Amino acid sequence: WLGLDGQVVIVTGGASGIGKHVVDTLVKVGAKAVAVDLNVKTGDELDGAYCVQCNVTDPESVNQMVQAVLAKYGKIDALVNNAGINLPRLLVDVKGEKPEYELNEDSFGKMFAVNVKGVFLCAQAVARELVKQGHGVILNMSSESGKEGSQGQSAYSATKGAVDSFTRSWAKELGKYNVRVVACAPGIMEATGLRTAAYNEALAYTRGVKPEDLSTDYSKVIPIGRDGKLDEVGSLVAYLVSDQASYITGTTVNISGGKSRG
Ligand code: NAD
Repeated sequence: WLGLDGQVVIVTGGASGIGKHVVDTLVKVGAKAVAVDLNVKTGDELDGAYCVQCNVTDPESVNQMVQAVLAKYGKIDALVNNAGINLPRLLVDVKGEKPEYELNEDSFGKMFAVNVKGVFLCAQAVARELVKQGHGVILNMSSESGKEGSQGQSAYSATKGAVDSFTRSWAKELGKYNVRVVACAPGIMEATGLRTAAYNEALAYTRGVKPEDLSTDYSKVIPIGRDGKLDEVGSLVAYLVSDQASYITGTTVNISGGKSRG
């Protein structure tokens, strides 16, 4: 029904978390999924997906990745710009106990490098091919916090605001070439590789709670009463990159159990 059989879909950050579930869903519906990540070896197979090692912040690495996919499959039908990092940091550490959890040039630069520059570099390299082919889809992984903001995650949220904005502009530029550009914005999801012990410690400090007190009673904050499953993002992404979504472009679709407003 989705018509993704034989479609070549690149998924950055495809070795872990949401990206891995997107890859698994795509493989299940017959797509030729390519798992692109720092943590894979080019030529390996990961549960039915072809792997290409790439650092999305490095233009040369991104171009080599695109060439490797073209050498293997001869075409690209869609790109899922999913690789992302999140370093919780306060704008000002008023308590003055943990200056390392105050936003600085290093943490700001790292998040913008992966979440914004990486999205731009992959989109540009793949768009050159999609425009030549006269069809294709770019899907950018945003976040609820891009629209809503998030305590202790201002720079991360700003990177996702940038992703939403890129999505709207690129859709306007590329629509005439039959290339769609969409985003999806997960809300609170079950744990992924992103939630390391270091992440939890930083997040807890920026929220003024203990790491063990981070978990929430989701029924109070999420209308559907639970956090989101990674498979649910996989299903949405498969739909959005398929021809079933052929009139959806230039927008960010929420997947947050009813929590996001915008
Ligand atoms: P994750 O840490 O489990 O996976 C991210 C993957 O990206 C990892 O495999 C990592 O190796 C890869 N990666 C990181 N930097 C890279 C680079 N420079 N080049 C290539 N690959 C790189 O994270 P996740 O939670 O699955 O997040 C995936 C995406 O979903 C991110 O864009 C994140 O912002 C977004 N998101 C996550 C949540 C959530 O609750 N987990 C919510 C909203 C949005």
